[in-house]
Amino acid sequence: MALITKKIKGTEDVLPKESYRWQFIEQVMREESKAYGFKEIRTPVFEHTELFARGVGQTTDVVQKEMYTFDTKGGESITLRPEGTAGAARAVLEHALENEGLPIKASYFVSCYRYEKPQAGRLREFHQFGLEEYGTQQPIADAELICAAQSVFDRLGIKQLRLELNSIGCPTCRADYHKALKDYFSQYKDKLCDTCLSRLDKNPMRILDCKSPICSEIAKDAPKITDYLCDECRNHFEDVKKYLDAAGIEYVVNPTIVRGLDYYTKTVFEFVTDCIGAQGTVCGGGRYDGLIEELGGKHLPSLGFAMGLERLLMVMDSQGIEIPDNDVCSLYIATMGEKAKAKAFALLRKVRECNLTAETDVVGRGLRAQMKYADKIGAKYSLVIGDNELEKNSAELKNMETGEKTEMALDDTFAEKFSLISLSDHKSFKI
Ligand code: ATP
Ligand code: MG
Repeated sequence: MALITKKIKGTEDVLPKESYRWQFIEQVMREESKAYGFKEIRTPVFEHTELFARGVGQTTDVVQKEMYTFDTKGGESITLRPEGTAGAARAVLEHALENEGLPIKASYFVSCYRYEKPQAGRLREFHQFGLEEYGTQQPIADAELICAAQSVFDRLGIKQLRLELNSIGCPTCRADYHKALKDYFSQYKDKLCDTCLSRLDKNPMRILDCKSPICSEIAKDAPKITDYLCDECRNHFEDVKKYLDAAGIEYVVNPTIVRGLDYYTKTVFEFVTDCIGAQGTVCGGGRYDGLIEELGGKHLPSLGFAMGLERLLMVMDSQGIEIPDNDVCSLYIATMGEKAKAKAFALLRKVRECNLTAETDVVGRGLRAQMKYADKIGAKYSLVIGDNELEKNSAELKNMETGEKTEMALDDTFAEKFSLISLSDHKSFKI
């Protein structure tokens, strides 16, 4: 039979046998968010197109080339979110969260949509975890945010991640810098790609972020923003570094990082690895003091980061980091006959109430096939109920790994007793 269709290019399925990996990293992220005082925000998957045009920036790759934008039947232009910050910022403004006290600290898990060329680590639907903080311009907040990302990586056991740090200044220092960049890139007008040519007047800093090999080669010798920072931005940057030093967080200053979105000011950073090929940026973030004003709010200095979950899982794979699978079946009850089936059904209900995974046959297999299935799903214990067992109201619980057997009464005490046995040898993991 031919399938009527397959998944769309650049999208991926997470199958039941692998979802524990996602749940594991998400749990770590939730716990770390909590430790740093962030609470989850959930916003819609689509928004009015102008939110991203303004919030992400007209001159960015994301807005110029990558958005999934379409008109609704009502004639509105809407866009599938390409990132999580704009939606969160819109919600903060719309619900006037600044009135509830500052800073506002929000975490998010989002699916994102970008029309990019699919390749390893680059999808059209991908997932991000992010933190957002609104209402502080203190450098300690920048350092704390970076520290939170570092904590997630540490908890996941990820190594060889390089924290690259830069400051891209504020509109004041950027005026001179833009001029210097424009002068520099104007010499190469005949070599720059068309997109970069169009950016030369509007936003020459974007050229530093161009992925075309020719533009990035030219960009290598471009003036560095760090030579143009105003006193305030320079001091801010020094303080961020001071706090990171105090916490023992290692970084390298990389003056070429400008980040892919327009709204950044002052601190920008990326966590980069060399172990998953060309798409090695696992996390990107920084400060965006002008964003809330850009979206129509009052001045509310803000900062945040987003990490790509697919890339993170790739890094963990490539570093051989084992993710514990907690979904393994604790008990499989095999049955012979209708009465046994009913008995198993009743017992299992109680076992599951103890928060354990337990299964029985639901496809009508014979005893041998049931036991084969129990093996296949890696059940830790099994129990066979037939006429004999029903008669004596007890059965042998078998440890599938050691073969050890324990006689168990099939009465009201069963679930609790099993739960204790299961707990005592459960190799619990700490995450
Ligand atoms: P890149 O330079 O790789 O294009 P970006 O600057 O566009 O990244 P951000 O918008 O900062 O990325 O998104 C934050 C993170 O989301 C990235 O560091 C990456 O881990 C992930 N990410 C971004 N785009 C994709 C994509 N198309 N597929 C998978 N993950 C992505
Ligand atoms: Mg990109």
